[in-house]
Amino acid sequence: MNLTASPTSERIPTVEVLGTPISSMSMDDTLLKIQSWIAGTDSHLIVTADATALVIAEEKPRFREVLGKASLITADSVGILWAMKRAGCKNPHKVSGVDLVAKLVALSAQHGYRIFFLGAEPGVADRAAERFRLQHPGCNIVGTHHGYFPADSDEIVAQTIAKAKPDILFAAMGMPRQEEFILRTMPLVGAKIGMGVGGSFDVFSGKTKRAPVLLQKMRMEWAWRLMLNPSKLSKVKLLPKFVMLILKNKP
Ligand code: UDP
Repeated sequence: MNLTASPTSERIPTVEVLGTPISSMSMDDTLLKIQSWIAGTDSHLIVTADATALVIAEEKPRFREVLGKASLITADSVGILWAMKRAGCKNPHKVSGVDLVAKLVALSAQHGYRIFFLGAEPGVADRAAERFRLQHPGCNIVGTHHGYFPADSDEIVAQTIAKAKPDILFAAMGMPRQEEFILRTMPLVGAKIGMGVGGSFDVFSGKTKRAPVLLQKMRMEWAWRLMLNPSKLSKVKLLPKFVMLILKNKP
């Protein structure tokens, strides 16, 4: 099982933000691309990046390496959309982890895609799966596992996941842990798609409430998340650095 290396070989339209190629595809085109990968033979890492991810990549070469191995990096924050516009992209699209999970689960009900939910506190991924089964009868969620285990148990957890033979592995253990898990275990797991989805299971299980639609429309969902979870402040503190780095580069 090969893990494909770079987005450029796949002819995905991208815009460089701080040296990282961010996809400018719409949600519909992104879903078509993912479906074509599910039908193929290779494994692909998908990263849904927010501004803090790109600052972390500036600071930690190991995470930059992880991004370099992704087949697709989507824009998952207003900050990235702003940077893409500054780089000349007229109509960048937000393709968030939360939205991709919901849409791929819906597609699973139509096409039978096998999906595994890894991550979050014990019971959370199960509750998210239960809710999806009510919402999309027939969706093929083939297993769940919580995300609180030490890195030296990665292989054991990967073996459990492999037994469920998933086409798609959603890993919700926070960045960069989830992406590193996917890269390390993909050959063993054998899924066609491995995607880090952060706090998505918390949202779909009902543990975390999604921001009111008005805030979502105003692109202020981050403020809502910060209010519910003040520990995210350490991430928010990276945002001024992101803005400075972008402004330093001439458009
Ligand atoms: N989490 C996990 N294992 C850990 C640490 C975190 O499964 O060792 C889960 C946590 O319960 C939450 C998700 O990872 O569901 C992280 O969400 P967060 O919103 O912090 O991720 P981000 O999207 O900011 O990367």
